[in-house]
Amino acid sequence: MQALRQALQEWYQNHQRDLPWRHTQDPYFIWLSEIILQQTRVDQGLPYYLKFTNAFPSVQLLANASQQEVLNLWQGLGYYSRGRNLHATAQQVTSDFNGVFPESYEGLLKLKGVGPYTAAAIASFAYNLPHAVLDGNVFRVLSRYFGVDLAINSTEGKRVFEALASELLDDNHPALHNQAIMEFGALQCKPVSPNCAICPVQESCMALLTNKVAQLPFKIKKVKVRKRFFVYHLVKNEQNRLAFSRRGPKDIWEGLFEFPLTEFDSLEAIEHYLKNEQIIGSKFQHVLTHQKIEAYFVVSSPKKWPLSNYQMLGLEDIEDHPIPRLIDKFLNAHSGELF
Ligand code: SF4
Repeated sequence: MQALRQALQEWYQNHQRDLPWRHTQDPYFIWLSEIILQQTRVDQGLPYYLKFTNAFPSVQLLANASQQEVLNLWQGLGYYSRGRNLHATAQQVTSDFNGVFPESYEGLLKLKGVGPYTAAAIASFAYNLPHAVLDGNVFRVLSRYFGVDLAINSTEGKRVFEALASELLDDNHPALHNQAIMEFGALQCKPVSPNCAICPVQESCMALLTNKVAQLPFKIKKVKVRKRFFVYHLVKNEQNRLAFSRRGPKDIWEGLFEFPLTEFDSLEAIEHYLKNEQIIGSKFQHVLTHQKIEAYFVVSSPKKWPLSNYQMLGLEDIEDHPIPRLIDKFLNAHSGELF
């Protein structure tokens, strides 16, 4: 541990980039730089940091600006919600904290948009408090150097890496240590083709010694969840029975009974369609392993859904027919309005 700690700091003294937020201990400027650099490269974020600190040299000035002014400056950085949140947090600091950033890690966590990483960064850079940062760069360095092949996005992996980062932290120089390990990850132990031949810790790096540099850090691929948007049509005959049909093969709920269905491929499309429909109840959601279904139930006419194509079922018949849980939930909530 001590050898790595020292090597990181020595490396940092010789290789660090000269960046403006490294010359300040003002929590406002540090917070600004961290929010701007979320999901943004340093060379892209730097001009925005300069624009914001010029236009709003204090958190009060940022809080008092109009949202339009803030978003105009933000333009080009993408993710406008981040720009809006930046403004909201500045207002929170002025209204709830008297314009002074909280001076503890726990206090910083109370700020909107400030999670464990940003709180540790501000706590260490502004107040030199011993909190270890854990971002993508740090995960990579730790996972490779110590040869930890636990998934960095798993609960156990996060716990192990957090413990490792805290143990490695130099409690006497937390700001320097955190800057050093992040910069080392960004410039030396890079995601793709790190130049291990010139690395100061090559002799003790487990990934290099076991030929696993390219495989680490390890991440579990998230299963992509398909979103589906259903509108079910409630079509009645004169005997107060509702039209049902049976679902075919090669999709969910094969063989189960459901109302006539229209499926949309996006939220916009379904919202547009629903503008002119009489909706019963509110949105119903159903989550399956790889799918998330949002469903609405609307009153429709036999003119659009010719009854001869369907089985007409009364409330008492439904019990004898298997139906998806989603339809069951709807009927439990609204059958009184239907029958
Ligand atoms: S030897 Fe390579 S993989 Fe290991 S810490 Fe250095 S740069 Fe990273």
